[in-house]
Amino acid sequence: MVRLFGTNGVRGVANEELTVEKVTLLAASAGAYLGGDIAVGRDGRTTSPMFRNAAVSGLLSVGCRVRDAGMLSTPVLQHAVKHLRLDGGLMVTASHNPPEFNGVKVIAPDGVEISREQEEEIEDIFFRGGPEPSPWNRIGRTQPLDAIEPYNRAVLSHIDLESVREANLKIAIDAGNGVAALTAPDIARELGCGIETINVNVDGRFPGRESEPRSDNLDGLSALVEASGSDLGVAFDGDGDRSIFVDEKGEVHWGDRSVALVAREFIARNPGERVATAVSSSKVLEDVVTAGGGSVVYTRVGSVVISRTMVEHGIMFGGEENGGIMYGPQLQVRDGTMAMALVLEILAKSGKPLSELFSELPRYSQMKARVACPEELKEEALAKLRESADAPRVETIDGVKLSYPDGSWVLFRPSGTEPIFRIYAEADSPERVDKLVEEHKALIESVIKSLG
Ligand code: MG
Repeated sequence: MVRLFGTNGVRGVANEELTVEKVTLLAASAGAYLGGDIAVGRDGRTTSPMFRNAAVSGLLSVGCRVRDAGMLSTPVLQHAVKHLRLDGGLMVTASHNPPEFNGVKVIAPDGVEISREQEEEIEDIFFRGGPEPSPWNRIGRTQPLDAIEPYNRAVLSHIDLESVREANLKIAIDAGNGVAALTAPDIARELGCGIETINVNVDGRFPGRESEPRSDNLDGLSALVEASGSDLGVAFDGDGDRSIFVDEKGEVHWGDRSVALVAREFIARNPGERVATAVSSSKVLEDVVTAGGGSVVYTRVGSVVISRTMVEHGIMFGGEENGGIMYGPQLQVRDGTMAMALVLEILAKSGKPLSELFSELPRYSQMKARVACPEELKEEALAKLRESADAPRVETIDGVKLSYPDGSWVLFRPSGTEPIFRIYAEADSPERVDKLVEEHKALIESVIKSLG
């Protein structure tokens, strides 16, 4: 069946895959399903005002009352939906994708993106041609919504303001021309930080850098941190839910390590708590969480699955290796600005430089690979891998994950979009991870060959 929703809402190239007609119909379908009061927000993309208008029209056409939140980050809209007990939200954004893309994230009343099952219900309505429109005298109305101010107050309520203000920290902020620019600098200022900025003018063409913060595109931020003598740097993705940190020496630390850093503090303050993450996550998280007396709940890969697992099991901390930190006391979703505030608090209270805090975490080598596999053989290959696996710990939460006594592990996942298996591996040295990938590549190739 042709699907509307991908792993993170509906996405596509604007005016090609994603059209005004499609967004109007999607919004009407989502509105008919969710009903009542729906918040609408948008990121800073050049096509976002156009799609925002389409989303509003679709919602009004089925009688929804629209709470127009304007331009903001995804976590701000999510907070408003939950905080104001609305019936849902539509966020016009393509997150970290290139500027020609756009999309819609559908938010449930609990503030988290809707579940796979709810997506299917909305897809059903959409592919039937949309819901019955309301009669002329029952269409909805639009009302403005200020979501940012209450959000800022909520973020600050989780932080020990006095400690952070006393520390007089200096932070360099790279918003990547995205909408985190509308919250992160204000929060840092409220926390008494000196602020240096780069790419904090919201610009949907993303002239400063690509919208996805990666280790290889944050040179500008690293240079700013060093030149300004900042204590840290933080970079956000286009819709402000992901954050990547740079230490005082200008070194970029990938999300698996910042998640572990914040999780370690969370467990120290909440002994015995659980932390949710995907099976593909680095063992560094499990190491620090179990050392602190907590435990890790593993989920399938994908931020929505992690958030939904947190809600279902009452888990208050979650993380994704690409820089998604989910702090449950605020909301069980990824939130870059909240993550920034938590890291500032850790820095202030520890009194240590960020590089030293990161150096306290165990270090692993990771590697990814891909192996071709015809679509029709994927299921069988996985089953055979499972049967023949010679490892003390075999997990089948998402694909097949084999863990070995020396702490190393390998995960095989069939791609949902390409005729390949993805292989993820981690070990305590580059040599060991190299060998691990080589051996397991050979293993799955022989399994596929035996089936074909
Ligand atoms: Mg994002």
